[in-house]
Amino acid sequence: MNAKVDTLATTPVTVLRGVGPRRAQQLARLGVHTVQDLLFHLPLRYQDRTRVMPVGSLRTGDQAVIEVTVDHAEVRFGRRRSLLVRVSDGSGTLMLRFFHFTAAQKQAFARGVRLLCFGEARNGPVMLELVHPEYSLLHDGEPVSVEEALTPIYPTTEGLHQLSWKDLTGQALALLNEGRALQELLPKAVLHDYQLPSLPEAVNLLHRPPPDVSTQLLSENGHPAQRRLAFEELLAHQLSLRLLRRRARALAAPRIVAPGNLARCLQDALPFEPTGAQLRVTDEIAADLASGHPMLRLVQGDVGSGKTLVAALAAARVLEDGWQVALMVPTELLAEQHRQNLAQWFTAPLNIEVGWLTGHYKGRRRETVLERLATGELALVVGTHALFQEDARFARLGLVIVDEQHRFGVHQRLALRNKGNEQVPHQLIMTATPIPRTLAMTAYADLDLSVIDELPPGRQPVKTVVVSDERRSEVVTRVGENCRQGRQAYWVCTLIEESEALQCQAAEDTARELAETLPELRVALVHGRMKAADKEGVMQAFKVGELDLLVATTVIEVGVDVPNASLMIIENAERLGLAQLHQLRGRVGRGAAESHCVLMYHPPLGQLARERLSMLRESNDGFAIARKDLALRGPGEVLGTRQTGEIQFRIADLVRDEALIPQVQALADHLLREHPELTTPLIRRWLGEKVRYAAV
Ligand code: ADP
Ligand code: MG
Repeated sequence: MNAKVDTLATTPVTVLRGVGPRRAQQLARLGVHTVQDLLFHLPLRYQDRTRVMPVGSLRTGDQAVIEVTVDHAEVRFGRRRSLLVRVSDGSGTLMLRFFHFTAAQKQAFARGVRLLCFGEARNGPVMLELVHPEYSLLHDGEPVSVEEALTPIYPTTEGLHQLSWKDLTGQALALLNEGRALQELLPKAVLHDYQLPSLPEAVNLLHRPPPDVSTQLLSENGHPAQRRLAFEELLAHQLSLRLLRRRARALAAPRIVAPGNLARCLQDALPFEPTGAQLRVTDEIAADLASGHPMLRLVQGDVGSGKTLVAALAAARVLEDGWQVALMVPTELLAEQHRQNLAQWFTAPLNIEVGWLTGHYKGRRRETVLERLATGELALVVGTHALFQEDARFARLGLVIVDEQHRFGVHQRLALRNKGNEQVPHQLIMTATPIPRTLAMTAYADLDLSVIDELPPGRQPVKTVVVSDERRSEVVTRVGENCRQGRQAYWVCTLIEESEALQCQAAEDTARELAETLPELRVALVHGRMKAADKEGVMQAFKVGELDLLVATTVIEVGVDVPNASLMIIENAERLGLAQLHQLRGRVGRGAAESHCVLMYHPPLGQLARERLSMLRESNDGFAIARKDLALRGPGEVLGTRQTGEIQFRIADLVRDEALIPQVQALADHLLREHPELTTPLIRRWLGEKVRYAAV
């Protein structure tokens, strides 16, 4: 490679005609700094002004150029004054409609005048119409001139017009076509094998598509030129994560080779048999732990598939080898649940204490826990992110388990790695609900993936209904009946407001109201603003059956496990994401009794919301629901990282480009092996300055 490579990647936009400091600033707002950035600033859509269409062929929604003669023009005084110009071209008749017009304009539309128009056809009261079309008068004998390429419409910002974009991209293409380099980062053989156009070809085509390219294909992002760029972008993301993983893998981690007696004791004491899937994943983990390099494994499993046990078996191995284990969870309530579970598995039978640290632990109590972690006296600890604040030190941290990973950002996940001392701890990450495979392979390409694809035997699918909150009183009656039969119920309150205070207030009001309406029930309330001890007290009472109805905010979303609870009511269900609803619903259906979930919505229900709620009604399969959620709401929502923008693409779209992902993976392997020199420029081109993840 010569020194001139990638010149456009380092050529500032200011070399272009008409780009001074002000324009450069506007461009920078859209992330366009270099000529290469400009070339990658692709049109959102295209208009076809390359041919004149017969009026008779137009359908509503078509955007088209037409050449017509004026038949009649008049001003109508309806609800709005408008100028109506009836025009025709021999193949059909159509109306031009103007709400704003001058007298001179009206004059010009004399019968027999020829016009060239561009606009979008819409159904009018009498016939198809173009509302405020662009138009020009054609003089006698004047030939019609049309565009040579499809007209690109660029995403833009205030003060930058489409004409400017056309001019700037035109200049950038001219530089490219004069031979200024836009480095081809995909090897020739790859382009050939995957039938992708070269970079200059792709870029030229997308900025100035020739008339024979289908606008339909372009609008679906299905053109090979678009695929080529999406492919390259996905590849860059994949490579950055692979490199990250490779760097992490190169570090040393405790080699866990103890015979596994502790895990065996734990397993023997269980009242049930682990499922085949639990055992398989447990083996995968054991192999990682013995490798001498840090395990980085994501365990996916549907709600109730028994991830906690898998985590406990991994912990037992590491503890047996004399290392410490920390289990981090997103909420205090879940931390408490896990503490109880782990205590039941570790403390009585195996005599291993379970430590505990959350944000509510202050002062002396907190210091004591920290001290005992630092000396290594405490080997097993459960907590919230308080576990990993600056002052937390571990003597011999061997394994970090992160439960319900979607609640944490990736950065937080990586920060944990630094808590080990001379060695890097192993990491086991568990998701709350499944993530579609393509998304997992993209967003978590730095992790290995295990799937617990089997539920414990005897689980019954939860029956789900969707009802309007106009039928609230019927729902309340149903809660009463359910509980009179000795079973328990949850009532989850949600609000649009992000404010936790308001959420808690709503839950308090609802609890009071339900207690009044159903005086025979033992009703209690749990929400995020209660004292930790109070929350625990309520949960414990619910768990042992001293309460019938638990009114809660979404704090109970994760981890709560009470098999006798068989009815779940979710208010304002239309406001929650599918994954979250599925997760909440997963609190029931854990016992032998048939369980029900009532999704209550506040009408009117929009089309999208209707679709989402019926998906839940029809399926209990977390994997299927996750795929739907991805299609409906995009990857940011599904991963729960929308604020951090960790998985934002310029061109690629994980739903649309799903089929590319296995190819991208294979190619990433190939490049890392055969063309490592291409990886850095690829990552830099597509991820730019963004430091994707913290260094390991
Ligand atoms: P999740 O995967 O949602 O975290 P949990 O680990 O909370 O699921 O497990 C849900 C419930 O299933 C718990 O009560 C747990 O004890 C129980 N469980 C786990 N594994 C099995 C099994 N193999 N057979 C029967 N019950 C199991
Ligand atoms: Mg769990």
